[in-house]
Amino acid sequence: MPCRAREAVAGSRTMDIARVFLVTHPKGLVLRDASPLLDEGDLLALGLDAASARRVGELGGATSWVCSLARDALPPPYSAIGLRALHAMVGAEVFGCAMRAVQLAGFVDTHRFCGRCATPTVPVEGERALRCPACELTSYPRISPVVIGLVRRGDRALLARSPRFPMPFYSTLAGFVEIGETLEEALAREVREEVGIEIGAIRYFGSQPWPYPHQLMIGFMAEWTSGEVRVDGVEIADAQWFRADELPMVPAPMSIARQLIDAWAREAR
Ligand SMILES: [Zn+2]
Repeated sequence: MPCRAREAVAGSRTMDIARVFLVTHPKGLVLRDASPLLDEGDLLALGLDAASARRVGELGGATSWVCSLARDALPPPYSAIGLRALHAMVGAEVFGCAMRAVQLAGFVDTHRFCGRCATPTVPVEGERALRCPACELTSYPRISPVVIGLVRRGDRALLARSPRFPMPFYSTLAGFVEIGETLEEALAREVREEVGIEIGAIRYFGSQPWPYPHQLMIGFMAEWTSGEVRVDGVEIADAQWFRADELPMVPAPMSIARQLIDAWAREAR
């Protein structure tokens, strides 16, 4: 009995098949008719073999698979899109599948050989892993934990602007967790390094996979305890304490940074 994978795309097509395919491309994912969900006919048209596909997971009752296309050029009617742009075009379920597909393909692409003895790796049955047949070293997809925190001081919250941001918006502070750190220690260190203040009362807020390329954002609320804000001008261009009714430009609603800011602002108003 074929399953039905229904896309959350405006003007979507409905696919009465048991398997849907996503195809990664140097720019992100391949689209047909504004959708990243392809079928076996599309794989043939793109010169790909379904036997090379790797299982991503379930999507709308179908099984989703990913293949990789190494070349840039695409024949009509296909086009390519980056994950960030795709986010605005599809629903959460399709985006979640696309995100997993891109990260899985990236993992396979960067673990083709054993990191210890350089033997070509092989897939592990029943696991999302690659194993070395010579020395048995098993590799799993890389997930990089990043702590992100909104620091409060009275009725104000600390927001900072990075010179790397594509737009001049202010956001919460964030940084990668280092080896041997707790999440709380990582957040306190990042805040100390980036703006020179001490924080306490660190409380978990929520988390978000952030596939650019493989972060897991772990969000916290925290309270200022001591110190005055100073920025180095390199990592952080500017940082200020803002009241909820005088917020600067902030990140897009999809980000956990924005969810932290919105949650604080609702409480503060
Ligand atoms: Zn090996």
